[in-house]
Amino acid sequence: MTIQTLGERKKQIRLLMKYAVAEEHLERAKSFVNMYENDAIALNLFHTFYSFLPDGCDDSIEELHLLTRKQGVFLICATTMHADYIYLVTTERAEFLGKLTDGIWEEEILNFFRIADRDTFIKKYGDLSHASTYTPVNEAKDLCPVCSAASGEHHTSGCPLEICPWCDGQLTNCNCRFTIMNKDHLEKEAHIDAFQKLLNEKGRIPFDAERDMLAYPVSGDH
Ligand SMILES: [Zn+2]
Ligand SMILES: [Zn+2]
Repeated sequence: MTIQTLGERKKQIRLLMKYAVAEEHLERAKSFVNMYENDAIALNLFHTFYSFLPDGCDDSIEELHLLTRKQGVFLICATTMHADYIYLVTTERAEFLGKLTDGIWEEEILNFFRIADRDTFIKKYGDLSHASTYTPVNEAKDLCPVCSAASGEHHTSGCPLEICPWCDGQLTNCNCRFTIMNKDHLEKEAHIDAFQKLLNEKGRIPFDAERDMLAYPVSGDH
């Protein structure tokens, strides 16, 4: 997501908030959103929350806690005036999962984060005093600024920051896919799958904050 679309997203959120937040809480709720204005993850969460208020009555988010994250998928708890709600968030979208006290029911999600079951989730994450405040991704220097992979994790497929293991160039831009596959272009799904397989065999280069953040132009302080 580009900075411009983040700006658009923030505008939409501000509009939604006019209807979702009680007048007397609006300023405080807005300044909370401002803290995360360059963060696609938080903005997606705000957008989903203010579009579909979980309890259907005026409410606003006062705190965000990071429960866990993996491969650019974040499990975040939003504390509002009424309750603590769980959201599953990526740079693409946010999904409401329910109240923190109810835990997570979806097995697919529990499996993804390697959490045994709902009770284990509640025991491990139910008490927010042990959780860390969610910090904007652009301030979290240990995450890929584009796909949010952590150090040691693979980038999301297609992330422009992934390094090519054959030429050390930018994997989304270099010519290795054509040379390796001995083709002018890869048009068929099968070609792309075959290339992915070769790439996995060669060994994808995971994100490394120390190495990769030096190369990435970080936007100046505001
Ligand atoms: Zn990445
Ligand atoms: Zn290459």
